[in-house]
Amino acid sequence: MTVYDYKELIPEDMKKRIALIDVDGHNYPNLPLMKLAAWHKRRGDSVEWYDPLFHNSAYAPPFDIAYMSKVFTFTPDYQYPVNADKIIKGGTGYFYPDGGDPLPEEIEHIYPDYSIYGITDTAFGFLTRGCPRNCDFCIVSEKEGSKSYKVANLSEFWRGQKNIVLCDPNLIACPDWKDLIQQLIDSRARIDINQGIDMRLMTEEKAEMIKKIRVKAVHFAWDRYEDKKRIVPKFKAFKEITGWDRRKLIVFVLTNHGSTIEQDLERIYTLRDLGYDPYVMIYEKEKTKKGDPVRRLQRWVNNRVIFNTIPKFEDYDTKY
Ligand code: SF4
Repeated sequence: MTVYDYKELIPEDMKKRIALIDVDGHNYPNLPLMKLAAWHKRRGDSVEWYDPLFHNSAYAPPFDIAYMSKVFTFTPDYQYPVNADKIIKGGTGYFYPDGGDPLPEEIEHIYPDYSIYGITDTAFGFLTRGCPRNCDFCIVSEKEGSKSYKVANLSEFWRGQKNIVLCDPNLIACPDWKDLIQQLIDSRARIDINQGIDMRLMTEEKAEMIKKIRVKAVHFAWDRYEDKKRIVPKFKAFKEITGWDRRKLIVFVLTNHGSTIEQDLERIYTLRDLGYDPYVMIYEKEKTKKGDPVRRLQRWVNNRVIFNTIPKFEDYDTKY
């Protein structure tokens, strides 16, 4: 998000009225907005969510700055006029694929103001950015760089909350993985690694350390059917080392991207047999139609009740 020349824009002695707009909705907390709120509050500005009902009335004074953040390309843009002297937009939803200019360092590394979402018991953040994989369906390498590098210690965004949601794209590809995983172990918080641990980079040493984390869930990905030979033994070994229940072990299965339904099914059945919970992702889902096989496959797998009661896709597919 561009906070261009913000020192000039906001002279030290002038307090400002700041509005925030989470264009994607409030389903998932928006980190840049939480950081901007923290930074502005620290300098004495007032910060509030933009409410078109009140703030667009004829008598409402304009905000000094309104920040609009949009993460997803598929969500619609904000539909109301915005009553502000300056409107600053950011996020991949507006600037695909690089997300626009990054936040200034001072704001990027500030402790987020979780209170704007009413969050009290969970911390959100990144310990690393970037990924060496450069998968053609993913923007991370292009946006953040084609290697994984440490960007923060846990204490930058965690202050003793019971839960931590970690959004790192490829944590164990980072040369500092050991130090960072130790920080997660030491926190004793319940950790959700929500973006995908790269199983292809798993080693016994890494698995033994990850096992010591108090884990709520770890997400992996098996995106390419062709990785089968390499990745299956890794899934097997990781399960044996951790002994974790399938509910903690979620694996994203990318479909509609160069694989057949038979290959998708093979990945799904293999993962289930190994004690993992597959979760189907559809590449460019908006281009698929209702009733397409991948959509039916997704509905079958991702609805846990259905998936657990109807073990074979063909039985689901013929009945529903
Ligand atoms: S491994 Fe994951 S994060 Fe890295 S480029 Fe591929 S999909 Fe993106």
